Amino acid sequence: MSDKYGAFMGFGGAGEVWRCFYSLRLDTYGKGCGHDCAYCYAKSSLDFRRMWNPKDPASASWEAIQRKLDAAFDGQSRGKVAEALRRGVPVRLGSMSDPLQPKEVSLGMTYRLLKYLRGHGHPVLIMTKSALIGDDRYIDALDPKRTYVQMSFSTLHNGHARLIEPMASSPTERLAAMERVADAGIYVAARYCPYMPSHPDGYWTGNPIPFPHEPPQVLALSSPEDVWRLAEAGAGTVIAGFLRLSPWSAKWLKDALAIDIRKMFSGKFERGQLHYSAAEKRHYFEALKHVCDQAGIRFSVCYDSDDHYETFRDLWADHEDCCDGRMNVEGFDARIELPSA
Ligand code: SF4
Repeated sequence: MSDKYGAFMGFGGAGEVWRCFYSLRLDTYGKGCGHDCAYCYAKSSLDFRRMWNPKDPASASWEAIQRKLDAAFDGQSRGKVAEALRRGVPVRLGSMSDPLQPKEVSLGMTYRLLKYLRGHGHPVLIMTKSALIGDDRYIDALDPKRTYVQMSFSTLHNGHARLIEPMASSPTERLAAMERVADAGIYVAARYCPYMPSHPDGYWTGNPIPFPHEPPQVLALSSPEDVWRLAEAGAGTVIAGFLRLSPWSAKWLKDALAIDIRKMFSGKFERGQLHYSAAEKRHYFEALKHVCDQAGIRFSVCYDSDDHYETFRDLWADHEDCCDGRMNVEGFDARIELPSA
């Protein structure tokens, strides 16, 4: 019997509250995610506190979710979350745990929530790695005009994905689901997060980190050419977010891929995570944007570090919205003032 999950709704913490345009998040599942990705940022922050159980994640109580939403919509509750809901600020699903992970098949918590939000005409952003979103039942639960689906990838290679995202739908299944969602008239983005670098930091920008005893490690997980397949599957926007490494995700990726990816990083730390240099990230982002331009789709960069938040704004299709929602989905321009972090 899994735990109940109490902290299912609120605004993102740290800098996210003012940087993320859709920081009102609701997680139907928590304290674990059945997809158990090796690079997962939520897992990195919860596993060492023994709060991560991928085999049996906690679920929020539907009654508690409904009570909280009813009270907000009826005007009975106060506070920023209630105010945001009344003003129509989009609800983002999938921040700390995938809303359509395997457990959803038996519990259907996210399905109930989607139907509820549709009934209230409330905009919703769904981030997932599950092909479940392409099932007729789920598509019928979505308001095509006020739903934004972001399908996540770190690679389009099914074999590699099996190693680092062992329980998620395969990339091929995700692409097929995206196509069904897009065919239903719902705006779809492909989140290429984390985008996996092919070479060590500095390799493309003329300042390579030293590799005294071994040749550069070349990964072939993510590629700008993947954009063509994402566009064919109906992505209107590709949103890239670069790999960042906590000590734990470095270990989990090494276990999965038998490569010490840490050695590819030049040593820039922020909030306990290793980052590539901004110049090197820009090389990858510009290559992705170039193919997006050729394919006639939009490109954006997901916030990935405090230092680099502004650095890539010039690459966003909408310079005022890195998620690229407000120009493409009804209701995604609703905002409320939040205190800065
Ligand atoms: S699907 Fe998302 S939340 Fe779930 S394990 Fe993977 S990265 Fe983490």
